[in-house]
Amino acid sequence: MKNRTDGPFVLSAHDIVRHPGEMREHALTVPAPDRWGEGIVAIEKGRDIELEVRLESVHEGILVSGTVDSVFDGECSRCLRAISQPVEVEFQELFEYPGGETADFELQDDHVDLETLVRDAIVLSLPFQPVCRPDCPGLDPVTGELLTEESGVNAEPIDSRWAALQNFTETPPAPSAAQTREEK
Ligand SMILES: [Zn+2]
Repeated sequence: MKNRTDGPFVLSAHDIVRHPGEMREHALTVPAPDRWGEGIVAIEKGRDIELEVRLESVHEGILVSGTVDSVFDGECSRCLRAISQPVEVEFQELFEYPGGETADFELQDDHVDLETLVRDAIVLSLPFQPVCRPDCPGLDPVTGELLTEESGVNAEPIDSRWAALQNFTETPPAPSAAQTREEK
């Protein structure tokens, strides 16, 4: 565990430690220190990470809860166009007083470092298959061209009367029993 009491995501809880019931609220905006995320979309380095955080003093430590807002960039998983979309996630974690044996997060000299907590919350919320819009028709699997609503794979089925004709023309004629015999 990193031991540090300064950094862009570090907040002091000095005035509420060991005072269960006390609470402080913070709002801060921090540029992302790195690219966050490994998928098709990610939070690019330098993007604003907006935090609203509540620190509550409890018996075991400081309970941290809040929301994080940012914007992820990448490309649509269907049509490959560049996309940039907002993301908002809630998080909550207990920062235990030093000495606890099960702590994932610990207070460091009465400070909480939210970076790992916030980064993990936001990265886990990034869409695995991002889309530019929910009904993006994507690319034509044959030509690779961008499909329009009219040409999309979800286009209205053609008139059933014509559908019957289409089946007729697309189905190769089955060899008849007579032909099979002649070929022998
Ligand atoms: Zn798209």
